[in-house]
Order: sequence, then C-alpha cells, then structure tokens
Amino acid sequence: MEYISTRGSAPAMSSKKAIIKGMADDNGLYVPATFPFLGPNPFSGADCDSYAGRAARILQAFLTDYSEAELSLACKTAYAENFASPSVAPVRFLDEGLAVLELWHGPTLAFKDMALQLMPRLLSFALQAERERYEIVILVATSGDTGKAALEGFAGAERMRIFVFYPYGGVSEIQRLQMVTQRGENVGVCAVRGNFDDAQYGVKQLFADPHLNRRLAVFHFKLSSANSINWGRLAPQIVYYFTAYEQMAAAGKIQLGQPINICVPTGNFGNILAAYYARQCGLPLSKLLCASNRNKVLTDFIRSGIYDRQREFYRTESPSMDILISSNLERLLFELSGRQPEIVCQWMEELATRGWYEISSAALEKLQTLFYGGFADSMETFTAMKEAFEKSGYLMDPHSAVGYSVLQRYREETGDRTPTLLASTASPFKFNWAVLEALGENTSGQDEFSLLEELSKLTGQPVPAKLAELNSLPEIHAGVCEKQEMAEVLGRFLGLK
Ligand SMILES: *Cc1c(COP(=O)(O)O)cnc(C)c1O
Repeated sequence: MEYISTRGSAPAMSSKKAIIKGMADDNGLYVPATFPFLGPNPFSGADCDSYAGRAARILQAFLTDYSEAELSLACKTAYAENFASPSVAPVRFLDEGLAVLELWHGPTLAFKDMALQLMPRLLSFALQAERERYEIVILVATSGDTGKAALEGFAGAERMRIFVFYPYGGVSEIQRLQMVTQRGENVGVCAVRGNFDDAQYGVKQLFADPHLNRRLAVFHFKLSSANSINWGRLAPQIVYYFTAYEQMAAAGKIQLGQPINICVPTGNFGNILAAYYARQCGLPLSKLLCASNRNKVLTDFIRSGIYDRQREFYRTESPSMDILISSNLERLLFELSGRQPEIVCQWMEELATRGWYEISSAALEKLQTLFYGGFADSMETFTAMKEAFEKSGYLMDPHSAVGYSVLQRYREETGDRTPTLLASTASPFKFNWAVLEALGENTSGQDEFSLLEELSKLTGQPVPAKLAELNSLPEIHAGVCEKQEMAEVLGRFLGLK
C-alpha cells in the first residue's frame, strides 16, 4: 500500500518512509492511497485472541511493507503489561444504548499511549530498512499530556533519543512529576522559562536552526517530531474501533453488522479521523459525533462549512482539547473534496493567509451526512461528570464528559437511539481536581496526592499505581533554562562538542 500526500505534489511512498518523514515535502499529510476492506469483524484465528494480535491484524492491511513478524513483535511489546487492563482498551456498558471505550489504561493514563506505545517500535523497524545509519532525536514541546506519553513511548528505544521541553510553572504538578521522574538512558527533559507557546516556538526554531542541524549531522543525528499528524500515530488508533465493536457484539449489545454511532471528544481531529477510517474499511458506523469544548471551531465547521480560526482561545478543564487548528482535519478535507489535492491546497492557503475557508456545498453535504458537531461549555462538562456518576456510578474525566454531554444533546435533538460508543480519553484520576469539583467536593488548598486519595475514597476505586508512585520517585530532570538556551541544552544532552 502506498501513501499519497493530501497536497498532491510530493511523491507517493511506502508506510515506513511516510512514518520516518512525518509530514510530506509539499506540507501535506500522508493518507493511504486506498482503504482496505476489513468488514465488521476481521478477527478470526487464535492469533486474534489478544489486543496485540488484533492490532497486528488490522495494521497488516495498512502497513504492507512491514513483515508479519515485525508487526506482531511491535504490537506484542507495545500492548503488554504496560497496560493496566489485560484487554488493553476495555469497553464498559453504562446503559442499554451506551458503551464507553476506555483508552486510558496505558502508562500515562491518557489515550495518547494507544498510539505512542506502538509508534516508536514502528519507527524503529522503518529505520532498520534505511541504508544510512543515523540516530533520530525526537523533540517535543508539551503543555502536559503529550510529553509524558512520548517519553514513555521512546524511553529505551534503539537509535532514538527524546528530549522534551515544557513551560516552567505551566503544567500541573502531576504532569511535571510524570516527566521529571522519567527513567531511561536516551531521555531528556527541561523546563523553559516562558509559556507553552514560547516552548513550542523554541522547538520550531531548533528544527530551523542551520548551525545546530549541521552540528547534528556531523554526529549522525537527525531531528524529528512525534506529533499527531504522523501516520505512525494515526494507524494504531484505527484498531480500537474494530476491537470495541467486536466487544459490543460479543456482549450481545448489538448484532454483528448492526450500525452504531461513535462519539469522540476531539482536539486535533486525530482520534475521530481514525473512526472515520475504520468506517471506510467497512466497520458499520452510522453517525460520527465530534465533541468539542468551548474552543468549538469544529462544531461551527460541521454546522456551517466554514472553518474560522480567528477567535478567542479559551483555557478549559479539558486542556488536551484546547486547540484552534485541528491539523488532522486536512485528511478529512481530502476525502470531502473527492481526493482533489488542488482543492485542499486552496483551502489550506486560505486558512494560512486570511484565517478561514469555506468548503463547497457538495462537500458540506457529505460532511453533515456523516458527522454531527456539538460542544459543551464548563458548566455542561461538570454537569455531565456528575450525571454519569449519579446515574450509572461511572466516573469520567472532563474530556470524556464533553463527549457524554454532546451525546445527550444529540439524542435529545434527534431522537436517534442507535447504540453508541463513547471514546473515553483519560483516567478521571489524571484530572482529579475537576472530577472532585463536579462531585461537589471542595478542593481548595489540597495538594495533588491528597486529591487522589480523596477521589479514591469517594469512589472506592484505587489510585492508579502509576500516579501513586510519583510521590516517591526521584526527580531526575531538574533543569530549567531560558528560551535562548534551548539549543545549548539539547547539544549538551546529545554530547555535541
Ligand atoms: C489528545 C487528547 C484528546 C484529543 O484527541 P485528538 O486526537 O487531538 O482529537 C482528547 N482527550 C485527551 C485526554 C487527550 O489527551
């Protein structure tokens, strides 16, 4: 299977090359040239008993230049004891029509692990196929979640190093501890004085710095990023929509082949795009509900066909969805345009130059047939957490609660009673403050660890081991630097003379 660029002027390439490259040379994103047909249940045979086996089965259809042995090994090591649930991505049934897909049993307790535990292993096999010998240096600027998930994924990976910059004082105490306690010979972490934008801008400067890149080349290093537009992060996300559907059928909640709806709390449009791709491969999905927080650029887009990023940015209690440019949306635009790169180029050009674009009425009709867009503000998000807990005894984090709220609204508006799968993207313990507030507790003046204990007492669920242990792990990465020192810090980490 070949991968083609959404902007049409970069050459098609194999999945290994696309995963090494990340973004295409024409600034487009790689998409599969065709969608393989997989049907509602592609899992037959004993090797599909585990999540790892199932993942390998789905990925074989997309990553055709990987051998079966490579995919099987990569999946077996990615989805193992590092996940706290033996089924890796379990489905919980709340009421007759609602199933929740828990994507947060990985080492960092958020859904990014589903992709970032596997992606470094895919990258590693891709590098082995390259003639040239060099080491990849993954650079990340993080506002919290992605940094830790990338550190966990890349720690110990051969021929790869990872360095994470986070804003000093700009992440939660749990997030800071998660990063500064990270073990591994090949990992580095440093706080930058400034906000997230400063850290991100600084990392972009490093990629563009000719002096630094020349020095790196001398030492056989190449900079790379692990961001969510990389095909190696998207492909692993297609898997769990198939496994969840199979679990719903196996539990007798649906008949095999019966259509379901999917509701996904969305930021960069990666997770919900993976659901759309699963549908393209024959998974019987009816409506895709795209749930946003107060940064509702996608809701407006789905309702009007106009994508307008010129708007105020809000900080919310679902920070991983505080995004105004949903970079993976370009892949959907490619499909809505009828796979015409010239049209995608035009829309992206308009977005870059004037801040907005409008899709054609034919494209809008396609979009609205498939997608429903909705959003939840803070009040609605807190209400949703409370309601789900009181009604079903189910505790969800604020990101998942945005999805829950949008789903309730959709059901009221349309009367659609199709069985629905809600993607739950983070453990409630990771966002303990918001969850406790939603349940009516007073959280002021308490540190993170007493909040964890309180949430545990209130719900009878144990504090996840990966969070509880943070209290006693040594802080390894204490460094703080100025914005203009980032290149020097990176150089020291890599031992550049
Ligand atoms: C990244 C993230 C999201 C958003 O996922 P996208 O693929 O960017 O749409 C939602 N919830 C959590 C907890 C996340 O970490």
